[in-house]
Amino acid sequence: TSAQIGVTGLAVMGRNLARNFARNGYTVAVHNRTEARTKALVEEFGGEGDFIAAETAEEFVAALERPRRLVIMVKAGAPTDAVIQEFAPLLEPGDMIIDGGNAHFADTRRREKALREQGIHFVGMGVSGGEEGALHGPSIMPGGPRESYDSLGPMLEKISAKAKDGAPCVTHIGPDGAGHFVKMVHNGIEYADMQLIGEAYQLLRDVAGYSPAEIAGIFRRWNTGRLDSYLIEITAEVLSHVDAATGKPFVDVVVDQAEQKGTGRWTVQIALDLGVPVSGIAEAVFARSLSGHAALREASQGLAGPKAVPLGKDEAAAFADRVEQALYASKIVSYTQGFHEIAAGSEEYDWDIDLGAVSSIWRGGCIIRAAFLDRIRAAYDARADLPSLLSDETFAREIAGAQDDWREVVIAAVRQGVPTPGFAAALAYYDALRAARLPAALTQGQRDFFGAHTYRRVDQEGSFHTLWGGDRSEVSA
Ligand code: NDP
Repeated sequence: TSAQIGVTGLAVMGRNLARNFARNGYTVAVHNRTEARTKALVEEFGGEGDFIAAETAEEFVAALERPRRLVIMVKAGAPTDAVIQEFAPLLEPGDMIIDGGNAHFADTRRREKALREQGIHFVGMGVSGGEEGALHGPSIMPGGPRESYDSLGPMLEKISAKAKDGAPCVTHIGPDGAGHFVKMVHNGIEYADMQLIGEAYQLLRDVAGYSPAEIAGIFRRWNTGRLDSYLIEITAEVLSHVDAATGKPFVDVVVDQAEQKGTGRWTVQIALDLGVPVSGIAEAVFARSLSGHAALREASQGLAGPKAVPLGKDEAAAFADRVEQALYASKIVSYTQGFHEIAAGSEEYDWDIDLGAVSSIWRGGCIIRAAFLDRIRAAYDARADLPSLLSDETFAREIAGAQDDWREVVIAAVRQGVPTPGFAAALAYYDALRAARLPAALTQGQRDFFGAHTYRRVDQEGSFHTLWGGDRSEVSA
């Protein structure tokens, strides 16, 4: 017998993805650099389906039916290149290498181009959902050549998560690096979601005076409404958890320095390159970075702050409702920014990404899965060329309903000295987009003054320059 698919790299993600394929009836060839992992997989889970354990790269390739489908699930970066270099010479034209790691999309573009010259189809595939998702059904974002999806797609549709309406959470995203690009932005949005939830928690604690257990209850309630999502659900779980050793709330015994692996940072770096304002996502990345600067924070402990006036019990409940509004409105803005970045990437690299399909496959399996994604999909269903999520009528109406509370929450945060960079950046973005005039006109004047960079006029075509050092007359540039 031969295997319909092979997985090399059997750490948590690869092992669970291989098991997922096997549980769905596929014969799976499995391989890992360190053979012990391969053996352990077959010993522990061999009963779940048909595995072919391969000791060497040659055995692994020989075990695959042709055209071969070979999934790489190793550490992103140099290890991925090493594995490609090991396997590519053993493959034949028409075979497929699928990289399920968290690769940078630029690496995926480079690898796809190199392998295309050998006739090998290279699919950069974003996978979200962590180890549980890999096993029970992740959200899958495959890029690469369109024709690769004809044979790979049905298999991915089987192992993927299913949205509530039964639709598989996978679609061909677009050529070369499109899949990894969309996975990158997914993670950027995930950072923003987490930051906004963190700000809501901090406000409920420091301004409203609720305990972690009470806040868990508030998040549980929110999770039955429009904020219904995996991240809100697990937030309630984490907040209600009590540390066994000390009896304190778990959240109070964890060092408050957030770590990151890089995809959030990439989202912001690429947004800067593409000229897309993803201020909410950027604030989320910076907030994690700031939290990690222990010495800087220590040295700042004596800095002055406002006199904090905690709310009374009766005001607290009303404030919590306002925080829900602020969180929801800010969330709309971070998704608006994230989808803008995907649209810009699609335009820049000619990927022709269907934004509605992206929102659809994020409805299940992935970390940002949420009822909210249904609304985004509805917005793109209503109008595929929506210039911005904020121009969707439903979202515009919801923000209109939330904005007074949103402003009050930011005001309260500023007054009490609670940092809410996510809420505030989202609100500033919203107000900047709404503004009839921006101070960019003044910026242009300054640039023309010091660097003769020229400006355009509201009432005439062309570029102009004012002779600032001379008689201040205007010349056509
Ligand atoms: P790791 O990222 O920890 O990678 C470990 C695996 O990579 C092992 O199988 C290891 O083999 C292999 N490996 C490392 N270097 C090499 C090399 N030079 N040559 C061959 N094999 C090598 O594993 P994870 O399962 O956590 O993640 C796999 C991929 O999936 C990563 O790219 C990750 O970013 C991505 N991902 C992870 C998620 C998660 O929640 N963990 C979620 C979504 C994506 P050996 O056993 O021999 O050391």
